[in-house]
Order: sequence, then structure tokens, then C-alpha cells
Amino acid sequence: MIRFYNTLTGRVEPFEPIEPGVVKLYTCGPTVYDFPHIGNWRAYAFEDLLKRFLLFSGFKVTHVMNITDVDDKTIRGANAKGVGLEEYTRPFIEAFRKDRDTLNILPADHYPRATEHIREMVEIIKVLLEKGFAYRRDGSIYFAIDKFPSYGGLSKINLEDLRPGSRGDADEYEKESVHDFALWKAPKEGEPSWDEGIGPGRPGWHIECSAMSSKYLGRTFDIHCGGVDNIFPHHENEIAQSEAANGVKFVNYWLHCHHLVVDGEKMAKSKGNFYTLSDILATGYDPLDVRYLLISTHYRKMLNFTFEALEQAKAARSRLGNFLGDLEDVTKEPDGNQDVRPLVENARAGFVAGLEDDLNISESLAALFSLVKMIYPLFSQGEISRRQAETVLGFFSSVENVLAVKPSPVRSASGTVTGVSDAGGKATVLESEVQAKIEARRKARTDKNFALADAIRQELLSQGILLEDTKDGVRWKKVGPSKT
Ligand SMILES: [Zn+2]
Repeated sequence: MIRFYNTLTGRVEPFEPIEPGVVKLYTCGPTVYDFPHIGNWRAYAFEDLLKRFLLFSGFKVTHVMNITDVDDKTIRGANAKGVGLEEYTRPFIEAFRKDRDTLNILPADHYPRATEHIREMVEIIKVLLEKGFAYRRDGSIYFAIDKFPSYGGLSKINLEDLRPGSRGDADEYEKESVHDFALWKAPKEGEPSWDEGIGPGRPGWHIECSAMSSKYLGRTFDIHCGGVDNIFPHHENEIAQSEAANGVKFVNYWLHCHHLVVDGEKMAKSKGNFYTLSDILATGYDPLDVRYLLISTHYRKMLNFTFEALEQAKAARSRLGNFLGDLEDVTKEPDGNQDVRPLVENARAGFVAGLEDDLNISESLAALFSLVKMIYPLFSQGEISRRQAETVLGFFSSVENVLAVKPSPVRSASGTVTGVSDAGGKATVLESEVQAKIEARRKARTDKNFALADAIRQELLSQGILLEDTKDGVRWKKVGPSKT
């Protein structure tokens, strides 16, 4: 029995889809105003693990992920560049697809774009106006949350805190009260605008997901995912809009993954610890090392991204790869005395039990590695025949449908595996160059030129040099093969 922690109820609950054997899954997709960063990929990799495990468990899954191609950020970016939204967002959508495939993430069944679903959003807004959940103000339309008594049920937010003046995060539009949010924003100079019968304007961000999820999955569906930062206000607002308009429950299970931090700190461009997938791959790691790292921490725990952790992920993948490579090489014909099937069945049970328990990946991986540990001695004693090796290999190939990390053997070819070496441990020709760059970066930071400081850090990273800001100053270390 699969169980998930449901943010809505605050409990781990048995998972029962509306229609037996079929799962309708909605995951909030990228806002395509920039290249996705490693924190975004943490969420998408978690959702992929979830989806792959549901498929592995025999469910048919219909997966929808929206593409937010119109919102405050995309409009701001397009205007700054002097191009239209379509032109501005295209490279980011392409980068998203490319990274997704690189990370072995299964594509969704539908990637609806906000700009192509304006009419569906307007239909919901019309209903909300008719039913009295929405009101017009200065050309915009707002959702009145005091008309929706269960508002706050997902985020458990205290509505008292949302009274005017109790928070400083007032929206840029005027509203009856701070906690009402815009469904439809009045036209503004330099912003795209649609006229679909409720007055000219453009949609707010939240209404996009309400409209696109119900179009492809129905008014009530099984699972909605996102990062914890989506819980409020985004998902809270989705529930309010959808349930107020449709009069039925919106989503049965809400699953949220925790943040990713880098070296224990929140990622920020100004801190120079902001990575896209390409930044990391430029250091020489295999993308599936990154995938392994992203999925191997339980989704409800904070993931601390460090190059040491990435090195460990790489080592774990290699350990599995070497094991599978050794098994593939077995040619011994007669069966040994040992029957490996009970060991494999035990590992399979442990692997499944872990993931069934709210995607407890650590338990599942432990089951795999304990099988490796038990088989190796038998293997070295010549107890493993070809047929037994195939039993184990067959099990790992079914597991690969869920993990999708393609463990690859690393034979002891020198120079292919580059470990972390200490700063200054070995004098290299690069050292003086690195020191000069560090000094240039320090100066850029003193001058508050964070863009330049970040560029210097990225340049070094692309050469396999990682900078760490410590209280004793900047340290550097080699994290991957140099590209030069
Ligand atoms: Zn969304």
C-alpha cells in the first residue's frame, strides 16, 4: 500500500486514486524567464521519481505540467530586451526540455502554455464573478478571500496575519484588503493584453494552474505537486479559485518537496552560489550523478547541494555500475550452491517498501546496497553462476525504471575519476591564475559588482575550480577535470 504525506491534511495517508489504477498528476512547471536552476531541478526530479514509482507500481499516469510564459517576470524580461514574449521565452523553454532529457526525466503528457489558455482562465473568472467570489477594481479583477471560508486550509496560514498592515508584502495593485489576489490584471503600458469578454487585461499567475489542470485532468484530480514555496500563496489560491468556481474538491493529495540549498545557504545570484545544470556539468560530472544526488535525499528534507555530496553520488553510481559490470562478465555455467533468489526477493521487498512509505528513497537505496554487499562475497567465492547473475541483473534493470540513474562501471582507468583535492595541496600551473581571479572577484564584491563577481566564480567553476567563502577568507579546490 502506497502512502504519501499530504500537505492538505498534515498526515501520511494511504494513496487511493479516484479511478482505480489511474493517476491524474499535476506539477507546477517552469516560469520561463530564465534558465532553470538546480533548485528547480530538485523539484522536477522528485516529481519524476514519484511518477516513475507510480508507473512501476502498475498505475497509468496522466501527467500535466504547465509552462508559465506570461507573468510579471516574463513580461519584465521581454520588455528589458525589447522583444515579444514568445521570442523572449523560447530559449528558456528549449533549455528546460534539454535539461529535462539530460536528467532522464520522463516528459509530461501535456505541457500547456499559459498564453494558449487565456480563454479557459477567463471562463473561470466569469464564474467567480457571477458567484460573487470575485470583484472588479480599477480595471482588474480580484478574488475576495473572505468569501471563501476554508481559505488557508492548505498552508494553515493564520488569516489574522493577513489583515492590512500586518504584512509588508502588499501587491502592486489596489485591493479591498491585502489578502485578496488578482485574477485578472488591468492593461498597462508595455504589457500584453487580451480581450475575452471580461474587459482587456492579462491573467494573474495563480489562475493559470487552476484553468490548465482542470482542462486536462478534470475538476477533481489525484495529486498536485510543487516546491514548499508554492504552498502559499500559489497553491492556496489555486484551491480557492477552483473550488469556489466548481463547487467540488480540487485535489486529493498535495505533495511538496523541500528547498535545495548550496553549501548550506540559500541560492542567490548575489552570493555566487547559483547553479544551472550546465554550470555543474561544466565541472565534468555526469548528469546522472546530479540526478542521483537530487533523488537520493528524501523529498521532504532540505537538500544541501555540495560538490562533496555530488562526489559521493558519483561514487555510489560507480559502485552499482561496477557491481553490475562484474555480474555481466560472469560466464560460469553450473549453478553454485547458493540460491540468490531469496536475497533478490528480499531486496525487492525492501526497495518497494521504502518507496511505498512516502517515497522513502534512503530505505530503498539501502536495500539495493545491502544486496550488493551480500552478493559480492558469493561472487568472489565463485558461487555465482551466469543464471544467478542474470536474476540479479534482471532485478536491477526493473529498479532502473524507477531510479533512471544508469549505473555505469568505472574500470580503473586513471584520470577519469577526479576526486576533491585540497586547496594548495598540489601546486599547479593554474595556481597563480586562480589567485588573481580570486582577487579580482574580491574587488568586484567590494565594489558591489555582484554580476562580475558571479561571472568570475562561474568562469573558474567551468575550469573545475570551486570557490568557497569561509570566515577565514576564500578557499578554492579542484572539483573536476579542467576543460582546458
Ligand atoms: Zn502552478
